[in-house]
Amino acid sequence: MIEQVTAENNRFTGIAVSPGIVIGKARLVDRSKQKIIYQYLINENEINREVERLKNALEVTKEQLLDLKSRIPDSIKEHSFILDTHLMIVDDNMISGATINIILEERINAEWALKKSVQKIRQLFDQVDFEYIRDRIHDVENVVERILRNLVGKKQESLSNINEKVIIVAHDLSPADTSEINTSMVMGFITDVGGKTSHTAIMAQALKIPAVLGLEKATGSIEDGNLLIVDGYKGEVIVNPDNDLITSYQEKALYYKNYISSILQLSHLPSETTDGYRMAVKANIEFLEEVETAKDNGAEGVGLYRTEFLYIRNKGVPGEDELYQNYREIAEKVMPFPVTIRTLDIGGDKIFSNKKPSNEANPALGLRAIRFCLKEQEIFKSQLRAILRASAYGNIRIMFPMISGVQELIDAKSILLKVMYELEKENIPYDRKMKVGAMIEIPSAVMVADILAESADFFSIGTNDLIQYTLAIDRSNENVAYMYEPYHPAVIRMIMQVVKAAKNAGIEVSLCGEMAGDPFCIPILLGMGINELSLTATGIPQLKKLIRSLSKEETEKDLENILKLKTSEEVRRYIQKITKGYLPDINGNGFKLKYLQ
Ligand code: PEP
Ligand code: MG
Repeated sequence: MIEQVTAENNRFTGIAVSPGIVIGKARLVDRSKQKIIYQYLINENEINREVERLKNALEVTKEQLLDLKSRIPDSIKEHSFILDTHLMIVDDNMISGATINIILEERINAEWALKKSVQKIRQLFDQVDFEYIRDRIHDVENVVERILRNLVGKKQESLSNINEKVIIVAHDLSPADTSEINTSMVMGFITDVGGKTSHTAIMAQALKIPAVLGLEKATGSIEDGNLLIVDGYKGEVIVNPDNDLITSYQEKALYYKNYISSILQLSHLPSETTDGYRMAVKANIEFLEEVETAKDNGAEGVGLYRTEFLYIRNKGVPGEDELYQNYREIAEKVMPFPVTIRTLDIGGDKIFSNKKPSNEANPALGLRAIRFCLKEQEIFKSQLRAILRASAYGNIRIMFPMISGVQELIDAKSILLKVMYELEKENIPYDRKMKVGAMIEIPSAVMVADILAESADFFSIGTNDLIQYTLAIDRSNENVAYMYEPYHPAVIRMIMQVVKAAKNAGIEVSLCGEMAGDPFCIPILLGMGINELSLTATGIPQLKKLIRSLSKEETEKDLENILKLKTSEEVRRYIQKITKGYLPDINGNGFKLKYLQ
């Protein structure tokens, strides 16, 4: 049923994936799922014909993707690997091989068999609690839709033909679609499905066009030619706004533009308080391609390189050389600043693309991160060799995730030593003074932080997991998301204890969880004397502005009061009151801080 947009229900809320505000005409693009998939049984003598139809559709799909790749605009050339990923999906045995098997075994037509093999893949992805990996199902679905359209002989409408200024409205846009967008015509885009870490979202950021995804019913309610306001900061879309709303959004757009350019100007200044305390601000990255954004936003290095991506993008465990090239390239690009490489945080339900997920009842408490690496030592050693080899070409630090006690740290370090020894024997250069750190993200590690500090060159506090394990709330379970509370006195005391242990031992302590991106947490962390914060690159300019307007001495006094508070709510109120004073131009003009995060 088509829902008519009315004055009352003309606002949609989705996921803000690429910032900016645009006002323009809607252009509906049909990227809806192939609604009718014919399902029929076939005779034995029709099997070959169905297999051939499938192979043909796979071939055509491949040609289309190769053609798109050859025409990808320069501005997003570095993202062309996404189309390679799609080409790999076309070739993947879980699609082609599995579908052919289903045709042979179940004697059903190619479309039906394809649908069945995707259902199996979807079930595997559904069990994963790691958002980034779970979102990769969208890539599989995008490719399968294209194969299905080719199977039924439907023409692919190209986005490169759009020749007037519009905002694209689609059920879903694949990264392949996005790569065709002509940014001089397309002002922004919105879709019914898709998530924050989808490749389409990454492409939108690279193209610098506002985008809101996951609006659920947008295509059912918006008509071609409707006037739209797309707010890529807040994740909101307004359909057929009145003149007053248009004027207020035009003002907002101008305000943001000016504000962002003013904080970007500051972003390359030192991250220093008014009384001269330096707190380094670095970027969290997941792939090489993010290094440029990190630098543009004034990152003083990479504080957390999550290395899982290559193990997911590839078909299984990548080779040592591939890892080495990747780490070396990142280190060289970030020089003279350091890159902290976190060893593989995978396992439990975080699967390699070609491995079955394990059947652990509590994957978050299962064989994950350092536990997995200490068990699968060949995989671990190969990554350590790659990191060490790359360390000869840049400023690399290494850290181990999910350390629960000192024995694990000692075991991980002794494997590292063995690998160093092997490299010595092979005359392969590496940085002998490479710093080795422990992530503190399990409460037991907090309790023995003083012991860990004797064996670590630095600590990095991972508050995403530390909060999860301290408050016993599954970070991916939306039913308890409201309890995910960085202001909880237990969390603040835990962090304080780690900082004290690090200071007593004379080692550096950084913090790389989402908390580092929450401006309201900064006075607390600064008061404690944390040496470095690492966060999503786009949050850096605002964070630097905040640090540059705070006094370390004042935050120390505030911290004394905060440590006496009893509930999260009391801490929140206190911190909001003091932070507002530091950020007058964010809170002025009636804008909320969260708009700019
Ligand atoms: C954390 O746990 O805070 C962290 C930075 O690591 P991840 O989010 O990758 O688990
Ligand atoms: Mg973690």
